[in-house]
Amino acid sequence: GFNCGIVGLPNVGKSTLFNALTATAAAQAANFPFCTIEPNVGRVAVPDARLDKIATIGKSAQIVPTQLEFVDIAGLVKGASKGEGLGNQFLANIRETDAIVHVLRCFDDENVIHVEGSVDPIRDAEVIETELMLADLESVERQIVSTTKKAKSGDKDIKIQLAVMEKVKVALDAGQPARVVVPNLAEDEKKPFAMLQLLTSKPILYVCNVSEADAATGNEWTKKVADMAKAQGAQHVVISAAIESEIAQLGSEEEKEEFLSTLNLEEAGLNKIIRAGYTLLGLQTYFTVGPKEARAWTVLKGARAPQAAGEIHSDIERGFIRAEVIAYDDFVALNGEQGAKDAGKMRVEGKEYVVQDGDIMLFRHSG
Ligand code: GDP
Repeated sequence: GFNCGIVGLPNVGKSTLFNALTATAAAQAANFPFCTIEPNVGRVAVPDARLDKIATIGKSAQIVPTQLEFVDIAGLVKGASKGEGLGNQFLANIRETDAIVHVLRCFDDENVIHVEGSVDPIRDAEVIETELMLADLESVERQIVSTTKKAKSGDKDIKIQLAVMEKVKVALDAGQPARVVVPNLAEDEKKPFAMLQLLTSKPILYVCNVSEADAATGNEWTKKVADMAKAQGAQHVVISAAIESEIAQLGSEEEKEEFLSTLNLEEAGLNKIIRAGYTLLGLQTYFTVGPKEARAWTVLKGARAPQAAGEIHSDIERGFIRAEVIAYDDFVALNGEQGAKDAGKMRVEGKEYVVQDGDIMLFRHSG
């Protein structure tokens, strides 16, 4: 599966948010068969109204949404790259995530101490980014030393690796994250770059944690974060962790919706984060539908049909023969599989087919 690591300075609202997330996941577990929860890992259903619609049309007995995983990454402080606090453990945990969800404090509360002395999310973002850049610099310098020795053999691939490392080091030395070099990478440099597993090359979602009063509108700080995110090609969402933890305590969907509307909110902040995380990771959804269940599956954008089949089972990928595909809009407009078939809207696709978001798929396979 794909995962997002939640990071941020102490006291910005990470735990509040993560607890809301796991409470939601626990509530979902009652309805869906597969939610397992580890102490610092929460898997939540990706909300998707299309799935309910498909299940209704397909008269499916059960609905199984696709999930996204969040990892709570403990305690980053200034100096983490030098091993302060839980520094090294923290950095190792981030290295294993696919994307970073960076929580920024955008609320005033004199009862909640700020580790940097005052509220300033832009500065906080820089504090963390600096730690990540320092960690990357140390890692890349180490790799340059060992790779330089190997490069003496004249191996072409090793020379390319070394060139990529030097480009990254130039950026980091200039105080820029590793991701800035991506647009300037040659085709044969992309893989060596990915293999460096740099912290500052991961996609970022900034989560502005605001007071309940600012949840619908945002505030001066969230505007600044929005500008910063835009300049970096990153994304941002505005939420109130306090509200999320209250929502997580509510039982029914009706209660949740009523609570949200009293706050002038269209949807829970958690849903915004889940959807933004999904986009951030370049993910899309396809569906399978039958009398037993309607189910959503996650694949990378650009995935081909056999790869999508592999999400269900590796045997189906290996024995892939063809896929029968109906676009979501056709499925709905023609009232399901039979209608789509009759109208000639069920396509038979082969190994090279690039899966489209919302496709309803049936795989034919051998074995
Ligand atoms: P962490 O250290 O980043 O995990 O932060 P916590 O989630 O433990 O939150 C630190 C403190 O800030 C706690 O006392 C929370 O109740 C409080 N807090 C978190 N989110 C909000 C918020 O949106 N508004 C206010 N006023 N307090 C919050």
